[in-house]
Amino acid sequence: MLSIRGLKSGYAGAEILHGLDVEIKLGEISTIIGPNGSGKSTLLKSIFNLCDIYSGEIKFKDKNITSLPTYELISEGISYVPQGRQVFSDMTVKENLEMGAFIMRDKEVVQRNLADIFEKFPFLKQKANEYAFSLSGGQQQMLSIARALIQDPELILMDEPSLGLSPKTMGEVFEKIKEINKEDVTVLIVEQNAKAAAKIADKIIVLEQGRIALSGGKELLKSKKLENIYFGGE
Ligand code: ADP
Ligand code: MG
Repeated sequence: MLSIRGLKSGYAGAEILHGLDVEIKLGEISTIIGPNGSGKSTLLKSIFNLCDIYSGEIKFKDKNITSLPTYELISEGISYVPQGRQVFSDMTVKENLEMGAFIMRDKEVVQRNLADIFEKFPFLKQKANEYAFSLSGGQQQMLSIARALIQDPELILMDEPSLGLSPKTMGEVFEKIKEINKEDVTVLIVEQNAKAAAKIADKIIVLEQGRIALSGGKELLKSKKLENIYFGGE
């Protein structure tokens, strides 16, 4: 569904990703793990055109989408949930969701998607008119995910959705992600916490210093090599 070939990208001339090949299959949950600064966020930003691409190609459903403007990527069916939630705290829950839908021209579709979101996240309906800052961390993360889902994506990119959450809340967020995936949304998620990632991933991609160090199924988590990447040594 998403096919990345020879991707070199970074910021202002500094190359961070040094030629990645990544294949994301329709319907799967793929997880990118790796130490801090290994380029996980940069990979998502490369797909969503939020950094500079120096070479390589990104194809989505066989269409070359490399460097398409972000609003076009959303119309193509890709949505992005940034690291650190980034909800608009001074806006209400409903206004936050409407911000997610602002590029969608068909207001009837927006209303229908909003109704869908309220069905999937009943607490968001209850709190529709409350300010986002009054929500708990976990609820803000759900709002951030819901704001991307209102765009009705086929592929959702999520950057560390579990960051800063308690283990219990993290579990709830992961359950929600699984549910979303069952409803035909392919998921590409960045996780700092390798163990947490393993709970939901079909496929794991390990980044190390801007290169793919390992990739495969859950069995990777038992590999000695992974331990070395995280904890050093031979
Ligand atoms: P990760 O998400 O794996 O922690 P990032 O993709 O955020 O890693 O960062 C990878 C590298 O890119 C780091 O060395 C970081 O300093 C650099 N970097 C990240 N964002 C920017 C930016 N906006 N401008 C310049 N360098 C950046
Ligand atoms: Mg990051």
